[in-house]
Amino acid sequence: MNKPTPAPSPLQDNLDKILETVPPDCVAPDKCRKIRDLICKQSDVLPTWLFVEAVEQVPVAISITDRQANILYVNHEFTQVTGYKAVDILGENESVLSDKCTPKIVYQRLWHEITSKRIWNGRLVNRHKSGRRYLADLIITPIIDDQGQISHFIGMHRDITQSYELEEKVKNQKTLIESVLNSSPIAMAVLDSDDQVILENQMYKTLVSDLKLREPAAFFLQTLRQEMGEQWEVLHGAHKSFAHREIRIDFGGSRAPRWFSCSGNWFFENDISAGAFFNAGKKEYLLLTLHDISLQRKQQEELHIQTLRALMAEEEQIQSLRETMLGVMHQIQQPVNQIQAALQLMQNKGDAQHEPVYALLRDIQQCGQTTLATLQNCMPGPKQTAIAPVNINKVLHEVIMLCTDKFLASGVIVDWQPTPVLPSLLGSEMQLRTLFKQLFDNAVAAMRRAGSDERILKIATHHENDLISVAIEDTGPGIPPHLRQKVFEPFYTTNGAAGYRTGVGLVMVKEIVNRHHGIISIDPEYRQGCRFIVSFPLNRNA
Ligand code: FAD
Repeated sequence: MNKPTPAPSPLQDNLDKILETVPPDCVAPDKCRKIRDLICKQSDVLPTWLFVEAVEQVPVAISITDRQANILYVNHEFTQVTGYKAVDILGENESVLSDKCTPKIVYQRLWHEITSKRIWNGRLVNRHKSGRRYLADLIITPIIDDQGQISHFIGMHRDITQSYELEEKVKNQKTLIESVLNSSPIAMAVLDSDDQVILENQMYKTLVSDLKLREPAAFFLQTLRQEMGEQWEVLHGAHKSFAHREIRIDFGGSRAPRWFSCSGNWFFENDISAGAFFNAGKKEYLLLTLHDISLQRKQQEELHIQTLRALMAEEEQIQSLRETMLGVMHQIQQPVNQIQAALQLMQNKGDAQHEPVYALLRDIQQCGQTTLATLQNCMPGPKQTAIAPVNINKVLHEVIMLCTDKFLASGVIVDWQPTPVLPSLLGSEMQLRTLFKQLFDNAVAAMRRAGSDERILKIATHHENDLISVAIEDTGPGIPPHLRQKVFEPFYTTNGAAGYRTGVGLVMVKEIVNRHHGIISIDPEYRQGCRFIVSFPLNRNA
């Protein structure tokens, strides 16, 4: 069944009639004026008492004045806000409301605007009838008569003392928080869910120029995500904080490395956008703190280098003893092998006549074997070192520091070009240090031997596709193509003049690389000297 159409109200009926009389080409302001005039003419549609009641009951303090601001009318709310009843204030000037602490210039501007037939809106300090000060948010509108002249003013104001106090309290708290954050020696940044920095302290700003990074937070976040892997997602998902994650940045050249202890805290804030008014939502933020601990780490590193220097000296002595013993064993092994061959020959011939010589040779051969076994037993083995996450940049930087005296004495310039942040690989720090020291020593020796005018040792690190590689290049004579395999064989040396080396350095280097599942090669493309490339896979135990 169809619903009966409700009968139009007389008010609606009249309004429709009025609207019909407005010409369709009438522009907006003219249209409004036209409608107003028509309504005024038909006082039965909207009677005057309705306008008066509307003004009387509206919850805004309203006053109507003459052109000199002498009050002609006040509504009920005006009495509530100012404390003045109509009988107290009609005929008085609006200035009775003034607390006299509003600067003159404010009134001058106010009057300039309203006498220019424009609406003025601003804040004035008013005095309640009781003497209490309050802050008024006031709008003054000039009323224009038919001749286009100002006939009256309407003032509308609200007491905004409380909301102003609240606003100021928030501002003060913000200033306080900002000054506390800015005085902190720790860099802090608040990031939104799109990783955009929305708040940062002074210390964070200094990092921008200090680290020459456009957005340090983006750099640290990327590194932390890489270092923490799945753990990042787990913590983020559970909104658990992380603390004291150390990040080392190597800049290369003569710039010292920097260390930062990073912590993060996820927190929520109520969404204050208009859209969230009925659908309260929360926004997620991350407070990232970056504590520069470079000074402490530098001091620790200096102490560490001193210890390493002693350790490496000891290791070098042992290594040189090993090399000497290996050389001796190599020397003994040759005649022992020859005697063994001679014995084999004599045995094959079945020559009984030379049995005494045969017995003597057998004794010599046995004696040689015993000596070799004794030497082998006496040989100091490689030091057993713990397998732990190793930062290759750190190891290389330490070895550069350890070799600084040698570089200076040999006139070698070091060009250190690390990838700023490298992931750790599992390995033996001690062995890797020995490996790189051997390669540096070889490079320096080669450049000295060749008497190169320009002695540059360039050390660079790279990280790509779960592979860390180190390129060590010198400006020495290089290694000819036919010897590039041979140099990794035992007892092969191009360093004959130096005398004391026995050609086992690169054998040991290769051994260490193998133990770390890595690869070592000599770059055939490099022509200015020699370039060794050592690559290690990540996520493999040594
Ligand atoms: P006044 O001598 O009254 O005025 C100070 C300056 O205002 C003068 O130097 C002059 O440049 C300018 N001025 C004053 N009257 C006129 C005029 N008729 N024509 C041109 N310029 C003029 N003030 C409040 O403090 N609180 C209010 O809530 C408030 N409400 C107002 C509401 C309306 C509708 C109007 C029209 C004015 C209102 N005023 C209000 C302003 C008020 O009239 C005074 O100008 C103001 O309070 C300063 O008072 P006074 O005695 O210190 O100085």
